[in-house]
Amino acid sequence: MNSWSIILLVPLILSVGVIPSLQSEITPSAEALKSKGTSLSETNSNKVCGDRLCSEISSEKKEMKKHTAMNAKKELFPATMDYTITGPEIDPEKGYAVIEIGDGLYWIADGMYQMMFLTTGEGVIVVDAPMGLGDKILQAINDVTTEPVTHLVYTHIHKDHIGSAHVFPDDIEIVSHIDTAEHLAMKNDPQRPVPTITFDEQYTLMVGDQVLELYYIGPFHSKGDIVVYSPAHKVAMAVDLFHPNAAPFQYFGIARDMGEHIAAHDKLLAMDWDVIISGHEPILGTPEHLKFNKEFTMQVLDNAFSAMQTTQPSANYFGDLADKCAELTVEQYPDLKDIEVSPVENCVTMVFYAMLD
Ligand SMILES: [Zn+2]
Ligand SMILES: [Zn+2]
Repeated sequence: MNSWSIILLVPLILSVGVIPSLQSEITPSAEALKSKGTSLSETNSNKVCGDRLCSEISSEKKEMKKHTAMNAKKELFPATMDYTITGPEIDPEKGYAVIEIGDGLYWIADGMYQMMFLTTGEGVIVVDAPMGLGDKILQAINDVTTEPVTHLVYTHIHKDHIGSAHVFPDDIEIVSHIDTAEHLAMKNDPQRPVPTITFDEQYTLMVGDQVLELYYIGPFHSKGDIVVYSPAHKVAMAVDLFHPNAAPFQYFGIARDMGEHIAAHDKLLAMDWDVIISGHEPILGTPEHLKFNKEFTMQVLDNAFSAMQTTQPSANYFGDLADKCAELTVEQYPDLKDIEVSPVENCVTMVFYAMLD
């Protein structure tokens, strides 16, 4: 392990230890902060403001926001749990479904991609803007509200999940992790405007009568990956970590760091949510789905180790290991959706992790 890894790991280890008490310790919940009368800027003590990446909200507006958010009572609708089993009907004319899954919290699904938005009484907060949905995002929002979009949150850097960000007005606030903002500033992609508000560890976004808590729990998938959490609805959104009720996408969702990827499961499970928007699949996820994905992932790791014990060295040693690991995995999960799609690719990632990490 080089010194950079140590520098990166120490805060990670520290954060793993405190995740179960995330809300009460490092990052007090929005409720607790409000009851103490903490202002929005103090709430976001880890906010990082670069020259171009920071915007100010007037203190008068902050007070107003705090006041409205405090009076709001928001819940997840019980019927929403049905969507953790079967996905919604997608109108073929429209190409999407827009469903209020909790008070003012809407889920947009097209069968492949997922995103969400919240009406606040003072403007809409949108989370992600998948490239394939394009203008349909505005159409879906206009289907249910006349409020203008005022805020957009990026869950991570990837174009397929935020590549329609340019459909919104230029003057909206865009919130992301600092790593996402740095990446997008470098890319200079007109479809992915550079964020105006960034944070490092945690950020509380209060608009009108809605509160979203944004957490950085490590780069579990790409760069600047965050968890978007509505404590009132008990809804989390973490994109491209897993596919509920299905095998992982290729190379474990092109995970850059399998250690972070695996660890993120427990960090997310330590948070209090009932459904999760995973970014893909026709359904919403549950903690059970995420637990299953962790078990599946650890089983593939086991299979990689088993393959190492039974495979003879050859010119294509890693390929042979991945093939053996994939064979074991498919045998163990014959009924899992998409198990046959990329077992070898997933095992390639896992074999390298098992051997080298
Ligand atoms: Zn992604
Ligand atoms: Zn994705």
